[in-house]
Amino acid sequence: MQCPFCKHDETKVIDSRTSQDFSIRRRRECLSCERRFTTYERIEESPIRVIKKDGTRVPFDRDKIRSGIEKACYKRPVSPEQIDRLVGAVEAAIYEDGEREVPTRRIGELVFNALRDLDKVAFVRFASVYREFQDVHDFVEELQPILDGRRRDPRS
Ligand SMILES: [Zn+2]
Repeated sequence: MQCPFCKHDETKVIDSRTSQDFSIRRRRECLSCERRFTTYERIEESPIRVIKKDGTRVPFDRDKIRSGIEKACYKRPVSPEQIDRLVGAVEAAIYEDGEREVPTRRIGELVFNALRDLDKVAFVRFASVYREFQDVHDFVEELQPILDGRRRDPRS
């Protein structure tokens, strides 16, 4: 991002917000002249690529994320609106990262975190499908509190 004042190429983002129409407002500061300015970016205009485990790049595809989440939520008390919001939140977080390329692992983590808050069964299902993206130790750490909780409370 070029500074509009001195044309220096490096700026830092000091604040970033995603609005409901999926545009991102970024407050930036020039690393050279230290003046501040605001940019607005339309999400549709900045296509993001996903870096797969084998190093190949594919276009970011929210439908793929959605279908993964839908599978995890099959027959769970999760509404389509909740799934919409979750997909939207994951997408917004990826765009807020500001990187043009995102590893699949990052997407997996975002979905993990969102699903964990939404529905524990869906979370465990998603985790079991996508575990190849996760380090085994991370995985046990994520799952252990859920398994412990189950043992204490057999109704959940
Ligand atoms: Zn500047």
